[in-house]
Amino acid sequence: MSSLHYWNYPTEIFCGPGALDVLAERCALLGMTQPLLVTDPGMLDLEPMALVTDHLRQAGIRFAVFSDIASNPSLDDVARGVAAFKAGQHDALIALGGGSAMDAAKGISLAAVDAQGLDQYQWSNVIAHYPSLGHFAHLDLPRLIALPTTAGTGSELGREAVLTLSEQNIKRVISHPELLPASVILDPFLTRGLPPALTAATGMDALTHHIEAFCSPLYHPMSSGVAVEGIRLIQQHLCNAHHDGKDMVAREGMLVASAMAAVAFQKGLGGVHALAHPLGARYHKHHGLLNAILLPYVLVANRQAISQDIARLARYLELPQPDFEGFLDWVLHLRQRLGIAHSLGEIGIDTEAAQWVGEQALADISSSDTNACVLSAADYSRIFRNAVHGVLHGASA
Ligand SMILES: [Zn+2]
Repeated sequence: MSSLHYWNYPTEIFCGPGALDVLAERCALLGMTQPLLVTDPGMLDLEPMALVTDHLRQAGIRFAVFSDIASNPSLDDVARGVAAFKAGQHDALIALGGGSAMDAAKGISLAAVDAQGLDQYQWSNVIAHYPSLGHFAHLDLPRLIALPTTAGTGSELGREAVLTLSEQNIKRVISHPELLPASVILDPFLTRGLPPALTAATGMDALTHHIEAFCSPLYHPMSSGVAVEGIRLIQQHLCNAHHDGKDMVAREGMLVASAMAAVAFQKGLGGVHALAHPLGARYHKHHGLLNAILLPYVLVANRQAISQDIARLARYLELPQPDFEGFLDWVLHLRQRLGIAHSLGEIGIDTEAAQWVGEQALADISSSDTNACVLSAADYSRIFRNAVHGVLHGASA
């Protein structure tokens, strides 16, 4: 994987060490004359920011930076971004960062053109009124180039943005086909400074995307195939990227696996995300960390529905024990190697809000019809309590 690659699946992707070099050319080809560079405040002093801004300056591209966003970007953050976009007369967006920067940039893109868009294209409306891509109005949204600096959310290959309604601690998913970035640059140099704990948490988010998509009962064999190979890439590369952040082969493998996950989860997500979304909004813990902790408990709850598929997956991964138990052991062992806690209690979450968590998880889009089996609010509350206390084998729904 030492050379550069160009793919168009489902949008154009430039992949490899130094792929950032195509940025200015892509801006020109996409007609982007004055982009707003959206990033999170923690990125401002880091190497990827210097690499990208130097590149843009050398190419003579006029740009401004917007970084006034929270780690879970809110509708208020987006509103400030729209104001900056309009005040600077920008015509396009570049997102540099993890999921927050991508989500904020997508929100800004939509809200800058359609003031009602963040309401109109929230998930419940999309399900009800836009059954296929062809049903969406063409909005001619500002073009977006995505430069991920983490390997986890896969948001660079998604048509969705997750935004928080600050006061209610609720996440809102926005979806529109034009939110898919026009160009994606997967350059492992942009991820080499990611600290080990974030490498682990974001990598486990990508793994969870693949596993939940693979276990989703929806019929979508193309996505299932992507998920299987994505999981193998994570098996091959995550521990190496965590152990040595300068390992460019591992970093590239994780970037590819993470991007693939967004293609896989066109098949849907499941109970892990249904629980992680309200927990992230309420307790402000890292999304990937929550997923990593929750994953084994939800696998056990789904066991009956998924054990055959998981056994097939375990054979592909060449696990020593190619069945559900062997796969569960692999996940637990991987988590341990990455230094991730076994229980939510270890990261300061208690069971006080168990009923609320169950209700919110049931209402989440990830639990609608894509978890492997039907779970009730009481089931979600029970899984949550087990995850708080670290009781794995009582998690069965
Ligand atoms: Zn996720």
